[in-house]
Amino acid sequence: MRRTGDLKLIQELNRSIVLDTIRHYGPISRSEIAKRHKLSPTTVTSAVSELIRDSLVSEVGTGTSNGGRKPILLQFSPDSRFLIGISISGSKITIAEMNLEAKVRKKEVFTIKRYQGDQVIAYLLQIMEQFVLPYESLDNCVGISIVTQGIVDSDNGVIRYNPKLKLKDIPVKEIVESRFHSKTWLDNDTNAYLLAEKSIGDFSHYQNMIYVTIGDGLGSSILVNGSIYRGFAGGAGEFGHTTIDRTGVRCDCGNIGCLENYVSWPAIYAKLLSALAKGKQSCIFELAGHDVNHISSAVFRQALSQNDPLAESILEETASYLASGLVNLVHLFNPEAIILGGEIAFENELLVSKVTEYVHEYAHGIFTEGLAIRLNSLGEDVEVVGAAAVVLQDTFQFSL
Ligand SMILES: [Zn+2]
Repeated sequence: MRRTGDLKLIQELNRSIVLDTIRHYGPISRSEIAKRHKLSPTTVTSAVSELIRDSLVSEVGTGTSNGGRKPILLQFSPDSRFLIGISISGSKITIAEMNLEAKVRKKEVFTIKRYQGDQVIAYLLQIMEQFVLPYESLDNCVGISIVTQGIVDSDNGVIRYNPKLKLKDIPVKEIVESRFHSKTWLDNDTNAYLLAEKSIGDFSHYQNMIYVTIGDGLGSSILVNGSIYRGFAGGAGEFGHTTIDRTGVRCDCGNIGCLENYVSWPAIYAKLLSALAKGKQSCIFELAGHDVNHISSAVFRQALSQNDPLAESILEETASYLASGLVNLVHLFNPEAIILGGEIAFENELLVSKVTEYVHEYAHGIFTEGLAIRLNSLGEDVEVVGAAAVVLQDTFQFSL
């Protein structure tokens, strides 16, 4: 029995290597795959047959011959199957259909309103039902991947703790699988975003980096020697709940003075409202159609692009708090790169330049030499592309 198990494992591994090679280097011939990985031609032929049978790979014409028969070239077929990616933030649920290269084909966004606890899960299931309604079946769906804030047990697919949405020990994987009969993954959102930047985005060459999401909360994910550092209970990277002021603001988590309450969108929004109430001059009120309820992070970024003094002064303050936190991370983990993502960071070059300035001023020179601080490369789609990256890595072992 043991030997059969080993053999099956080796076959699966070879199949993954072959698929990954076709994905990266296709159109490519069978013999070239064999040569690249020192695999036997029989091994490659049998793996390719399986991949063609599963529609993951197709034959696309012939290459040039070295004297003998012209070799048949193989190509990855990313549109043969699809997957569903879902991101649950503190304020919205985003759901999308993507192909096997994480290209978004259809995407919908829903506001969570004031739902909490079980209501959030009921709402999620309702959105999913509605989304899959037009599909005849999910037979061609590789799986469903859900990413969310807070502490997640990704092995068992359980949300351990999400203070913002009041979710505790929710077996999401089990609930979704029993309802939709499709394999389901659950992971922390920022871990998924980091995985996406590493496997699909522009950051594939870094082995030590930190992804920071600045949105309705503040999260981070830490890549150490090419692997995500998850900690003992899967909670590593809860950057937003690091304490910066023992006498500061009370946080949803029960602690006082958590960094999140100084740099996330709700903190920025509260500062904007208070400044506007005091009669501070700003174009924000006008950009929001003279309705404070319409002041969004997009409006804030728009004001920044118009050099609005109020928006700039709040950004400056936010960047300095964020940078203090980042200086701590830089000293603890000595990363090669820090990626800034989330609704506050999208296309926000001013945030990057301010944060870089502060980090370089306060972190030790040895740590900042060669340190890249950059915006995420996948834009707003990272929310669902991150979810896709989790499935693609686990199902096909797409190389990091
Ligand atoms: Zn907290």
